[in-house]
Amino acid sequence: MSHHPDTISTQRDIFQSTVPLSSGTPLQMTQESSSFEDNAAVERSIRYIFKEKKIPGCLPENVISQKMDHQKQLFPFETLCQVCPEHPKLDEAVLVTNKARIVSMMGVIENVSTHHRLCPQCHMVYRYQEWTDGLHNFDNHIVLSLELCLFLRENLQVRIAKIKYTHLKTALKIRVNFLSRDTIFHAYCHFEALTDTDYMYSCINCGFHPPVAVMDLHRKGVFNLAMSDLKAPPEDFNGEHDIEGFWNSVHLVMMSRGFFPSGVKNPFLVPPSYTDGAPWIGSETRTSDIVLNTEFQKVGTSSSHEAKLSSVTEDRLLDELAKQKVGVVTKLCKACNIDSKGSRFDLITRLREKMKSRQTHDKVFQSIWAASGGWSVILCPHGIVYSVKFNLRAESPQDFADLLLSWNHMPNVCVYDFADWLSPLRKMSRLHRMKA
Ligand SMILES: [Zn+2]
Ligand SMILES: [Zn+2]
Repeated sequence: MSHHPDTISTQRDIFQSTVPLSSGTPLQMTQESSSFEDNAAVERSIRYIFKEKKIPGCLPENVISQKMDHQKQLFPFETLCQVCPEHPKLDEAVLVTNKARIVSMMGVIENVSTHHRLCPQCHMVYRYQEWTDGLHNFDNHIVLSLELCLFLRENLQVRIAKIKYTHLKTALKIRVNFLSRDTIFHAYCHFEALTDTDYMYSCINCGFHPPVAVMDLHRKGVFNLAMSDLKAPPEDFNGEHDIEGFWNSVHLVMMSRGFFPSGVKNPFLVPPSYTDGAPWIGSETRTSDIVLNTEFQKVGTSSSHEAKLSSVTEDRLLDELAKQKVGVVTKLCKACNIDSKGSRFDLITRLREKMKSRQTHDKVFQSIWAASGGWSVILCPHGIVYSVKFNLRAESPQDFADLLLSWNHMPNVCVYDFADWLSPLRKMSRLHRMKA
């Protein structure tokens, strides 16, 4: 889930005005003068746009289909400050760049100029952000047409189980090869963060309360962090999270990417923590805006909990090991001082045997499981995702329990590939399997 923001490092001039259009005070936010005060002003702009410039969830057809050709100069709509109580007149518009690009389904419009205006009193920056023109301004350098944004959204929606970011690239490559995947991705996320959507997405067969729920784990996205980086939660913390508050803060991170070039400290970033990390559950599916994430309980305070976790993890770990490619298995054997000659099957057999020792077990565990636990997903049998939880630590049945306990209707049937984990009748189900 980490995206390298290297692509915007070349856009240091995002906040620098090069050619003042008038004798008014131009906004000079150079690297040197970029201070706390400037940051606070940018922060206010982001919150202003997030509150006042929301894109409607359902866009009128005439807005989407309008021609882009004549849009060569983009000025902020505001001429008076909307935040200061006496609404003072804003300073004259200042050119940000005349090399901005509008990326649309019909191609790219080059040499577009973008401008901003500054409030002489509160120093808030107003920039161009008008969806009614059929445009979405990402960072004053890249402007996407709303038609393109909707095209990207549709393509993401039809790929049910996995979001293929590479698809974005392939879809646009022919026309816009000067753009990196990250820039398009961040610009699109910026659009989604600003869109005022009622989340009504659900399976047409199952509705908002699927009677059968399938639990799955994706280990592709992991947090790259050491467990020691995570602060222990306060003693009275009970694992309840405000889902709206948390996902709003995530939206603000996506928004802020259009304002803070990489390398500049972004005050909106949400670091992974036990106390601030609500899972995602649709508004119709959850009981309330308060949802559970009791991941802090994985912090092995009691040794019995730890022991329980490691015993239930065993089957799963062996299963994962069996899926690994020969290269991974060979590496693991070498790391554990096990003979690495022979077939993949031979190596796995040797590893399994040696895993009875704690040391080897831990090595295999860390290598295959990674430091964190990927994301836990609950979906209906038709593949529509109802809940997602990003795990900071190795997956446990508790992750799914947290999600289901935050649902307003418990499914009748839960399908879990390692049902032993959830069932207290573990031995019985084993016997059952042996019989079958
Ligand atoms: Zn003002
Ligand atoms: Zn369904």
